[in-house]
Amino acid sequence: MAARQTPDFEAWESLMLQAARKGGAGVLGSLLSHWQQHAPREIILCQCGQRMSSRGRRAKGLLTTLGPAPFGRSFYQCKLCCHGRFPDDEHLDIVGTTYSPGVRRLMARAGSQSQFEQAAEDLLCYAGLKVQPREIERVAEDVGRQVEHWLCGQQNQLLQGVGTPAAPLQSIPKFYVSFDGTGIPVRKNELVGRKGKQADGSARTREVKLGCVFTQIGLDKEGNPQRDPDSTTYVGAIESSSLFGWRIYAEALRRGVDQANEVVVLTDGARYNRTIAQTHFPQAVHIVDLFHAYEHLTAIAQTLRGKEAKAPEDWRHLLEAGNISRLVSKVGQQLPASGKTKKSLLKQLRYFENNAAQMRYAEYREKKFFVGSGVVEAGCRTVIGERLKQSGMHWSVRGANAIIALRCCVLSGRFEDFWASRTS
Ligand SMILES: [Zn+2]
Repeated sequence: MAARQTPDFEAWESLMLQAARKGGAGVLGSLLSHWQQHAPREIILCQCGQRMSSRGRRAKGLLTTLGPAPFGRSFYQCKLCCHGRFPDDEHLDIVGTTYSPGVRRLMARAGSQSQFEQAAEDLLCYAGLKVQPREIERVAEDVGRQVEHWLCGQQNQLLQGVGTPAAPLQSIPKFYVSFDGTGIPVRKNELVGRKGKQADGSARTREVKLGCVFTQIGLDKEGNPQRDPDSTTYVGAIESSSLFGWRIYAEALRRGVDQANEVVVLTDGARYNRTIAQTHFPQAVHIVDLFHAYEHLTAIAQTLRGKEAKAPEDWRHLLEAGNISRLVSKVGQQLPASGKTKKSLLKQLRYFENNAAQMRYAEYREKKFFVGSGVVEAGCRTVIGERLKQSGMHWSVRGANAIIALRCCVLSGRFEDFWASRTS
């Protein structure tokens, strides 16, 4: 090539990468066979207790992050029951799969981040790996179930008081626990016998319960409460509220709720959320999201005064002041004497009556607490919505729960911990 000719830098780069991968895959293959030849011989037993005998090597098409690597592993078989085993696969963590652990880690991560078709394109583009979307789905869900298993183990330990919280030993000034629900589209067979919001009373979605834990460092320049950056962790699942209560409680324990000076539970005031707060966080200050309260107030105003109406100023002042008894009596005076409208308005008012103790907003502002559940609502959009509520999706509960576990783990910054725990 002429010395002064401009190089096609990108072509060089991509050629070098290909060569490096190919060479690396070759070295990896040699390392594997070296290990096989020099590994101490072990006695392989069948599940029936019989000693298994070697039946030579069987080739396996193994895909690694460096590309396909040739691999022939020893096959053992039981003379008695004909059961077979591949001990090498067991040692290398590739039982029943042709993907190396490194590839599976990438597949799980990519599949947690975007739709499986997109994930396949990303893996090809970023890592030169050609894998089918369906394979990514299978592996990502598989890893998600392992994540859930790992989390359950930790939860049980924490709940039994033998696990160690991850939180630092110094005290946490303000510790927040917040949870909410959001519907995701599921397959028809996941909805049998469930009441829903459709016109005919049927359902189309199942509710994912999402919880988050975060801490507050202090105040911003305007004197508003400020969240610790990167302090938010998530847990979630499609499950009963009582199971979810234990899940979020265990996460709070892990994050060091016991070392917190002040604990605040932020919810939207739904009844089961109140039950979780009372059951697991009886010492906490429970705050019902101010914006939900506003929504209910606006709904009342609109029922009384038409679709465009806003809540009158004096109502809003009473709400902000946390003077709920006065607010309820004031609104109550305007109710029609009877009829359907009255019934629905009374229902709206009960929201305020039931949650009055959690609506002392003036006091919360005084104490510089967050009064909105914006963090968990944003979580519902980013953790759940962006991945599980796209058009054309129909999840199985099992598949959705696996991906939810995986996403919560990744977005809580715990995926590397999980992965390291697999081999330790
Ligand atoms: Zn056997």
